[in-house]
Amino acid sequence: MIKRAILFGGKAIVSVLDTTQTVNKAIEIHGFSRSVAVAMGKALTVTAFMSGNFKGAGNKLTIIIDGNGAGGKMVLCGDFGAKVRGYIENPRACEDADAEVSQIVGKDGALNVIKDFGLKEPYNGLSQLVNGNIDEDFAYYFTASEQLPSAVALGVKMEGDECVKAGGIIVQPMPNCSPEEIFVLEDIVSNFTNVGELLCEKSAEEIMDFYFGHFQISRLPDICEEYLCSCSRDRIESMLITLGKEEALEIVRSQGRIEVGCEFCNRKYVFTEDDVKRLFE
Ligand SMILES: [Zn+2]
Repeated sequence: MIKRAILFGGKAIVSVLDTTQTVNKAIEIHGFSRSVAVAMGKALTVTAFMSGNFKGAGNKLTIIIDGNGAGGKMVLCGDFGAKVRGYIENPRACEDADAEVSQIVGKDGALNVIKDFGLKEPYNGLSQLVNGNIDEDFAYYFTASEQLPSAVALGVKMEGDECVKAGGIIVQPMPNCSPEEIFVLEDIVSNFTNVGELLCEKSAEEIMDFYFGHFQISRLPDICEEYLCSCSRDRIESMLITLGKEEALEIVRSQGRIEVGCEFCNRKYVFTEDDVKRLFE
C-alpha cells in the first residue's frame, strides 16, 4: 500500500509505502537469500514508488542497478499503478552470512532508469551509485537526473527467510519549498534509519499522521502496489514471430521444443513443433 500526501499546501509530497506483500511474493518466486531479500526489497519499494507516480495507463519503467556487487545486476520493472517485478543475477548471494546491502549491490557502478511514456524516445536517466545502499543512490538519482531533491528512507525487516515488514518513506520538496521547510523534512527523514522496524510499530497510515500530520497536510488517493508480471503466451509468441519461421523451426528440431522462461516470475512457456508451425500460418 502506498499512502501519499501533499505538505505545506503543495510545497512537498510525502509517500509512505508498506511493500511487505510484494517483497514476500518476490522471495517466494526467486528464493532470495536473506541479504538479497533486503536489497531487492528496497529496490522493489522504490520501483513501486516511481511507478505509483505515473499518470498514464501505459506508462512503464525499467531500472537497472549494476554496481559489481555479490548479487550481480539487478533489473526492476514498474508499470502504471505500482505493479512491479524484478530479478537479480545471483538470488542466493551471501547465503551463508548476512551481508550489508552495499555488498549485494556493490558501489562501483551506475543506476539506469528508463521511463517509457509511449513517446518516440523513452526518458533515459543515468547516475553513479553513491554507496550501494539504495536509499542514497536513489536520493542522488532523483536530485541529479530528475532535478527533484528527495529524501529517501527504505527498509526491510527479515525474520528467517521471511520478510516481516518492508517499505519506505520518500519526501520530495517542490521548487517553491523554502530552505527552512526542506530542513525540517530532511531532519524527519534522517531519523528513519530502519523503516522495516518502524513499520512493525506503526502502520503506514500512523506514520503519515504521526510524523507529517501537522504540516498542512492534504491527502492524495492511496495506491495498491503489487508484484505482478506482465508476461503472457501472446507476448512470447510475438517474440518468436520476430525471430522468424526458419530460426524458430530450427530450435524446435534441434531441441525438440522451444522453452522460454520469464526471468521475473519463473513461468515457463513451451512451444512444440506444431505450435510453431501454427504460429506462422
Ligand atoms: Zn513473467
